[in-house]
Amino acid sequence: MEIRKSYGGFDVFKLIAAFLVVAIHTSPLTSVSPAADFFFTRILGRLAVPFFFMVTGQFILTRYIEDGRNGFAAVWKYIKKVMLLYLAAIIIYLPIGYYAGNYSGVSPLSALCMLIFDGTFYHLWYFPALIVGILFVCLLRRVCPVRGLWAITVVLYIIALLGDSYWGITENIPVVSGVYEAMFKISSYTRNGLFFAPVFLLMGSQAAKLKISVKKSGILFAAAFILMTAEGVVLRHFNLQRHDSMYIMLPVCMVFLYQLIMSWERGPAKILRTASTWIYILHPAVIIAVRGAASVLGLRRLLVENSVVHYLAVCIGSFVIAVIITYLLSRFRRKSFREDRAWIEVDRAALARNVAVLRALLPESCELMPAVKANAYGHGMTMVARELNELGVRAFCVASVSEGVELRRSGIVGEVLILGYTHPAKFPLLKKYDLSQTVVDPDYAVELERYGKKIAVHIGIDTGMHRLGTAFCDLEAIEKIFKMKNLRVRGIFTHMCTADGGDEKSVEFSRRQGETFLKTVEELKSRGLDCGKIHMLPSYGILNYPEYAGDYARVGIALYGVKSAREDYDASGAELMPVMSMKARVASVRELKAGESAGYGLAFTAERDSKIATVTIGYADGYPRGLSCGKGHVLINGQIAPVAGRICMDQTIVDVTDIDSVHSGDIAVIIGRSGDKEISAYDIAEQTGTITNEIFSRLGSRLQRFMV
Ligand SMILES: *Cc1c(COP(=O)(O)O)cnc(C)c1O
Repeated sequence: MEIRKSYGGFDVFKLIAAFLVVAIHTSPLTSVSPAADFFFTRILGRLAVPFFFMVTGQFILTRYIEDGRNGFAAVWKYIKKVMLLYLAAIIIYLPIGYYAGNYSGVSPLSALCMLIFDGTFYHLWYFPALIVGILFVCLLRRVCPVRGLWAITVVLYIIALLGDSYWGITENIPVVSGVYEAMFKISSYTRNGLFFAPVFLLMGSQAAKLKISVKKSGILFAAAFILMTAEGVVLRHFNLQRHDSMYIMLPVCMVFLYQLIMSWERGPAKILRTASTWIYILHPAVIIAVRGAASVLGLRRLLVENSVVHYLAVCIGSFVIAVIITYLLSRFRRKSFREDRAWIEVDRAALARNVAVLRALLPESCELMPAVKANAYGHGMTMVARELNELGVRAFCVASVSEGVELRRSGIVGEVLILGYTHPAKFPLLKKYDLSQTVVDPDYAVELERYGKKIAVHIGIDTGMHRLGTAFCDLEAIEKIFKMKNLRVRGIFTHMCTADGGDEKSVEFSRRQGETFLKTVEELKSRGLDCGKIHMLPSYGILNYPEYAGDYARVGIALYGVKSAREDYDASGAELMPVMSMKARVASVRELKAGESAGYGLAFTAERDSKIATVTIGYADGYPRGLSCGKGHVLINGQIAPVAGRICMDQTIVDVTDIDSVHSGDIAVIIGRSGDKEISAYDIAEQTGTITNEIFSRLGSRLQRFMV
């Protein structure tokens, strides 16, 4: 079973790693003991950068490397982001590098080499190494399997070793040293995107497969690290190091260290994640600033000559500036999206909280398998799924194959189950994108089998809903599906259809479904069949019947923080938080004299001198037309504005006579809070005679979705 994780350990370790990098560039212990400083900066500190590469490998490359062809769009998006950061860093350091004379006598060709390999300032080598490394690994993956990738990247690392810490040996071999010297003309070090980064990127991408217990990882890391220390000391003693960033034991240490960090369970801390990147980028500038300030203030003895204080000053300075930049950037992002016409804000904290609350209702062994079908109930499928991936969610369900493909293309990892029917013409996509298909009935199983290639499936069992699945009582038919040689059974499930009712009949039926399903699974197991993951709970199942939790819980509406209807049965008392707010803009405000009318069919007539506002949302956005003529209302500046007349396709007129100041550009809240007032999804569902699920899932593709 997959261990449930939140990966918050990564965020904290990133910060630690950033401070280790600062140490490498400030040598904090020189004034204490050169040997201690060597250990701190040249051995311990060397764990930092491989860690950064591995995190990128795991979160950006896993999908592509597993697949070899798909998921490059997500990789490319990441590369563009890194390029932008690199560009920002180049601009920041251009004056300093120029002042230091780094660019004197640089030809266009050597400038290009600098840009691609060494970076334009000493610590900036990391960004081109990351970009080149990722592109190189992806390119290799196109032409060879993962095994080949291991061979090539390990050999490249060994070549790198011989031009780095082991140069003292290589240097004495005539022809070889010549080759290296030629290489060094292009890239000053072997520590770059071709030799150094690839192996760690690959290691990261495969790290989740390696499940080593915390204790074992701890012991093995300690052992490997002691050996690496010994290696470093010996190399230094014999003065063999040209540069000292690579050791034979470094990748070995990283394997176990990474397992340790991965098992560290804590909530994500995004601010640390972004801040550590900025610490990395800015610390050399802070070093210069600290030295400058020390000279001006006459504090050189304290701030510069005392290496420990110097280090702390640089760390604190970099951290403070990085946090400020992270904060300002998030503010800037927040501002920029408000410019849009009509949009949905997805509350990240509420989503994370709902995940935690729902997990707490379930036994440890049951994982959430969120239903992100129908654009994640209107919330934005890939955005939500990505966030869930970050929260450690490793299984999803969708309604259609195209939704599954979209998830994969945006780099979502974990199992993806298609709950509905897939036409045989689309079977190749199941395989290509590693999607699990539901076996909707025995005939469909035959069709899947006939495709002739291995397909991963979950077998649907009908325990009384009579929508999809093979009848539970037809054990022979179910067994036959299990035995089909092209079907790889990954799971078996049924669907509860009365779990939202608290009346006796509904409760009785839910229990009957639960018992029937468990008995069926037991029977199949006793026949020696491997059922894989078993699951039956939708949202109301989790809230009311957690005792039937299997391996997965297919949570839908509850994840988004509401029930289908306010009065629905909920025995759990779980405090879920609505995740969505929906907003639009006031486009135009105008006056109507008493008796004048407005909108299609002139369906609104002012009974008094009135003020109306046109809002930029309509039924094409999923704002139900049934809310026309005062049934619904929006909130503007914390006050209620009833819908005036008929809702149009793209706009809605509201009555703002009683609101003091309304201007073009003001925000109209359609769902969510404004001041002390709130419009909930329940309100809209009730006003239009439906459930929140329908309101959410029909929200239009034209609305932009943002995480806030
Ligand atoms: C949509 C769906 C779910 C999720 O349902 P909620 O009631 O929204 O939690 C679960 N299982 C199946 C088979 C579904 O179709």
